[in-house]
Amino acid sequence: MAIIKINKQNFYHNLNQIALKTGSVDKIAIVLKDNAYGHGLEYMAKLASEFGIKHAVVRKISEAEQITSFFDTILVLGDTITQHDKYFFAINSLDDISRAQKGAKVELKVDTGMHRNGIALDELEEALRSIKEQGLDLVGVMTHFRSADELSSELFWQQKRFEGVKKHVKNAGFTNVRFHSCNSAAILRMKHFNEDLVRVGIGAYGYDELPLPFDEVLLKPVLALYAKKIATRVLKKGERVGYGGDFTAPKEMTVSTYDLGYGDGWRRGDSTRPFITAENLPILGRVSMDFITLESDKEEVCVMNDAQNAAKQFGTISYEVTTALSAAIAKEVN
Ligand SMILES: *Cc1c(COP(=O)(O)O)cnc(C)c1O
Repeated sequence: MAIIKINKQNFYHNLNQIALKTGSVDKIAIVLKDNAYGHGLEYMAKLASEFGIKHAVVRKISEAEQITSFFDTILVLGDTITQHDKYFFAINSLDDISRAQKGAKVELKVDTGMHRNGIALDELEEALRSIKEQGLDLVGVMTHFRSADELSSELFWQQKRFEGVKKHVKNAGFTNVRFHSCNSAAILRMKHFNEDLVRVGIGAYGYDELPLPFDEVLLKPVLALYAKKIATRVLKKGERVGYGGDFTAPKEMTVSTYDLGYGDGWRRGDSTRPFITAENLPILGRVSMDFITLESDKEEVCVMNDAQNAAKQFGTISYEVTTALSAAIAKEVN
């Protein structure tokens, strides 16, 4: 099967860049949901912990359970709210509060404009009251920006609303609450960071989806995807490759099949606009479930070492390219 090589130096470089923005490694929560964006949950948790990161963010309890020993706190974004020493649970609605287990550590998510999850601003008072009544331990209050990666003022009015939320929570007598709002895009464009935590995903993995004017921080891709040779053959001029025979050899050429396909989460794409690999080889014909064909006879080829470049070729974003990669692909940390 294909193999994912993780570049530890690059990961640490990115975390350093983010620490320069937050002022401290202690203020970074590494987002490890969805198999650490395809990079491998346990591998990335271990590396992040060795770097000194103390906080993580995941979606489900089952993910938190695989990495508990590496962190001081793990924020679970969307799962049944139960009492646990290290797990903090996001409250996404007033209903979540009434369903939560007494004594659970919770972080209230406030909707300041994204309108996806979180309680509405005018529900804040009620939410704080029922958190007290239910005997929950409020340890955090957060929001999520909808347009941190766009060249507009939207980020700023959401921030302003969140400042109001902070005041309200403090005035209601809650102490020991951590406040956080920034994802990667927001922290990368932030000049004066003054919150308790950032929730950093894509930036730590080496991608910056901000438009050019913001592009000041150099990040380095952490993941490279390699495939191994299965078989080599020589095509005569006019012979065609793969399903539908979409590629026709223009001359005699040596080609090999490699062990990567859409079954591994690699995109099937469009054979009329072939993907160009990191070694500048176009994928010949259609991507199969488990194979691609390249004009090469090397034992191992690097298919991709920059998901942002790959995303441009596929018309999507780096997040989707790496997150789609199957968790079953072997990982190697270099
Ligand atoms: C996924 C997620 C993040 C991380 O976003 P990036 O853009 O990858 O940095 C932060 N906060 C929440 C609530 C998320 O769901």
